[in-house]
Amino acid sequence: MIGPWCFVDHFGPTEQTDGMVVAAHPHTGLQTVTWLIEGKIEHRDSIGSVQEINPGQLNLMTAGFGISHSEVSQQGPQRLHAVQLWVALPKEHIDTAPEFEHQDDLPKVEQDGFIATVLVGEFLGQAAKTKTFSPMMGAELRIKANSKIELPLELAFEYGFMLAEGSALVNRQEVMTSGLFYTDPGQSRVVIETGDHDVIVLMLGGEPFGEKILMWWNFIARNNEEIVEQREQWNHHLNQETGLKRFGKFEDEIGEWIPAPDLPNVTLQPR
Ligand code: MN
Repeated sequence: MIGPWCFVDHFGPTEQTDGMVVAAHPHTGLQTVTWLIEGKIEHRDSIGSVQEINPGQLNLMTAGFGISHSEVSQQGPQRLHAVQLWVALPKEHIDTAPEFEHQDDLPKVEQDGFIATVLVGEFLGQAAKTKTFSPMMGAELRIKANSKIELPLELAFEYGFMLAEGSALVNRQEVMTSGLFYTDPGQSRVVIETGDHDVIVLMLGGEPFGEKILMWWNFIARNNEEIVEQREQWNHHLNQETGLKRFGKFEDEIGEWIPAPDLPNVTLQPR
């Protein structure tokens, strides 16, 4: 983990021949952050949200007690390129009511050689309104070719620098596309150097989470029993008495849902 950030999925850039279709599936105990670089995706969920997301916009879904959603890429742009990030909720908020928000006016900071968009938390004096549950930040950095930039860091935070496009030297270490450079807490600055191409860096930081988490499939829970129960409720989620209370239902053009896989024959442990 990096602060509460517990999962990074960097997808694309791909040609939009078949598009992306992710049928209804559940989440618990976490927030999903979707940040689009190219393409167009429609999000639908069981609390009634229907939201198209375009480049430069952010979707934040707080799953908490439980939600289900689907994601479908839309006609139009030729390419799809995005990240989806998961944020673990601290135990006191793990069962919070599900929420969805769309941010299309995130703060930007332009400095010599780069433009930063603040996705979550605060960076370079600008704060995003995105809802958070523990001390953290996230920013997209678009750094021009042949630049050397120095960025201030929070001493209490650990950080990851993920190359979404191109490669760069981060603290003099080469990081390739989709690679991630990690820094421990206690550092006051980081230096990023680019070569002959512009690059896109995703910067993710936070205070070390201070709790172990139990993450299995799309769920984060406190113990094995909760995972077993959530899996059972999802696989019977159309049952009025149990599943619908936690995961709800919604209509979309896909009309299908993804069942949870079998559990391993062991007691899952937080780590
Ligand atoms: Mn999902």
